[in-house]
Amino acid sequence: AAPLLRTRTRSTCCYCGVGCGVLIDAERDAAGSRIVGVEGDPAHPANHGRLCTKGRTLAQTAHSTQGRLLAPELRAHRQQSRRRVDWAVALDTVADRLADIVHQHGPDAVAFYLSGQLLTEDYYVFNKLAKGLLGTNNIDTNSRLCMSSAVAAYKLAFGADGPPTCYEDLELAKTVLFAGSNMAYAHPVLLRRLEDARRDDPQVRWIVIDPRRTDTAAMADLHLAIQPGTDVALFNGMLHHLLWEDLIDPAFIAGHTSGFGELKSLLREYTPRMAAELCGIEVADLIQAAEWFGRSPATLSLYCMGLNQSVHGTDKNLALIHLHLATGQIGRPGTGPFSLTGQPNAMGGREVGGMATMLAAHRDIEVAEDRAQVERLWGLPAHTLSAKPGLPAVALFDALRSGKVKAVWIACTNPVHSMPDIGHVREALQRAELVIVQEAFGNTDTVPYADVLLPAATWGEKEGTVTNSERRISRVRAAVAAPGEAKPDWWIANEVARRLEARLAPPGAAPLFAFDSTAAIFDEHRRLTVGRDLDIGGLDYARLETDGPQQWPFPANAVQGQARRYTDGVFATADGRARFHPTPYRPVAEAISAHYPLRLLTGRLRDQWHGMSRTGRVPGLFAHSPRPGLRMHPQDAARRGLAEGELVRVTGKRGELVLALQLSDELASGTVFAAMHWSGQFLSSGGINELTQPAVDARSQQPELKHAAVRVEKA
Ligand code: SF4
Repeated sequence: AAPLLRTRTRSTCCYCGVGCGVLIDAERDAAGSRIVGVEGDPAHPANHGRLCTKGRTLAQTAHSTQGRLLAPELRAHRQQSRRRVDWAVALDTVADRLADIVHQHGPDAVAFYLSGQLLTEDYYVFNKLAKGLLGTNNIDTNSRLCMSSAVAAYKLAFGADGPPTCYEDLELAKTVLFAGSNMAYAHPVLLRRLEDARRDDPQVRWIVIDPRRTDTAAMADLHLAIQPGTDVALFNGMLHHLLWEDLIDPAFIAGHTSGFGELKSLLREYTPRMAAELCGIEVADLIQAAEWFGRSPATLSLYCMGLNQSVHGTDKNLALIHLHLATGQIGRPGTGPFSLTGQPNAMGGREVGGMATMLAAHRDIEVAEDRAQVERLWGLPAHTLSAKPGLPAVALFDALRSGKVKAVWIACTNPVHSMPDIGHVREALQRAELVIVQEAFGNTDTVPYADVLLPAATWGEKEGTVTNSERRISRVRAAVAAPGEAKPDWWIANEVARRLEARLAPPGAAPLFAFDSTAAIFDEHRRLTVGRDLDIGGLDYARLETDGPQQWPFPANAVQGQARRYTDGVFATADGRARFHPTPYRPVAEAISAHYPLRLLTGRLRDQWHGMSRTGRVPGLFAHSPRPGLRMHPQDAARRGLAEGELVRVTGKRGELVLALQLSDELASGTVFAAMHWSGQFLSSGGINELTQPAVDARSQQPELKHAAVRVEKA
């Protein structure tokens, strides 16, 4: 037998935005190559060798080709089954059909729906294909469901996207405020860092704001179990108290901000008593939180989907940022508002402008000079790029449903599981003229809708980069070959783009898609960032190889990236001042009623990731939460004559779902909770997004996935 070759490859975990470094052990023999082990990388600055249960079991998700898509498939009509074809046929078909639709209906009849799990290089090629070649900005991603309210608030408050903080601040903060973030489950390795810091300094205080007593809340010094959606009232009330008690920083406000006067007038009505009543908490607890926040030498806020997935997500982010600006708790070690990225590369996607409302390198679609810069850098004729913002996720599927958009190319995501109101998404895909699905796994809820199915390489099989929550760019590397005919996502987009160029570009136009490697794509991406807030002119694959993961900005001639931003008190706005914005409290989009008297909250399980296409392959990851269920307060269950374990029907305005009842006092009476992960793979009645609603935040376009009104009865 041929000798066994063993390799160890340095890479990055593919799950959450912590971005832990991993070492992948693989074996190769005559039969092929396979991943046999994954360990934490002690040299990676995010995790220093630690991994959570999901990261530790990565090798078990990569052990077989079972369930993997191994060859392209297509069908000419919906009534047919898909048939296997070779790559040339699949790529030509995609290019022909997209070109036909563009010729017949214009470029905005085509849309792309991508993923925060794509690598930066994948994103880059897709974005250039949509905006630079087809001429549509209809390219959005599941990051719209994840981080867009955080982005909108950073831009409004600081003039630029991206957190001002870094992971080192976790160890330096003396007061840590967690808002809408169950870090124990969603960002576990970072929580371990915080636990270590509190062990070293018992004076460190944790405040957790969450309607549920999550595992993170159970560890807090102060848990504010607010009514769902009342975060803005809480933050306004805290700032009112800080103002009243002279715990603000007038010099910082005067020297580095604008708009405080207007906010101050609004805050008058948010007395701690009024705010506490709205939030359903004790006024003493609100005051305690404000005191710890304002008097601490270093306050750090960590926040995630509980703030973002809301029709007022931008205001929730802003109201929290206001607390930092008003107290000067920003720009110093251990301070600042730190949005935790949900997905592994939601940040990288934003960097290349891979969303409907952005251009490359944090440029703005609606700014003529920004469009002109990208046109010059891409070698496009002037006025090629569309000035019309594309359709964000919810509107994109609405337009597909109404027939305004004819074709959608979905890559590395499962919208029939993850979008709100998935009944509408199913209808949209049924009505579409062309659905292209690019996927690694064959069992997602979206795959059955594909007219063209393109098999993608996945983690461990592909090269590229990702950017984690602290703006740190890490390499993702291939340890084994992709199975069957699966190809990297960037390669598939690039091959279709080359074919489309031949069909759509004017004769003699310079080729836009001459990429032959991810290094070449990264190199073009970095050139577009020069002079921008995220300038990585000093980074390339060689630098990442020799010096390891680096934070942006990292301009040419820099010796290292910038750990913290705005340390000089100069922000990225036109006048250099951070801006306060009035943030009045407004209620959730869907009020409870006599028909739907319960508030449904959604969230994560400890050991699962998204729609479980990967974590669902590891039996051990079901030990912590083996079955889908609906958690309900025992009093609410008793009132309805319901018992632990029995099947209940959860009904909302858009659909229903049958789940097993799980009694839990982690919730207040009147509130129920279900995990987001269980999909059609595990539940014949669908997933939790049968019930969630598509109402969006007007500024970020992020839907309110966290809250819906429902009723619960025996099934
Ligand atoms: Fe992966 Fe996130 Fe766990 Fe780190 S914390 S191992 S990035 S899932």
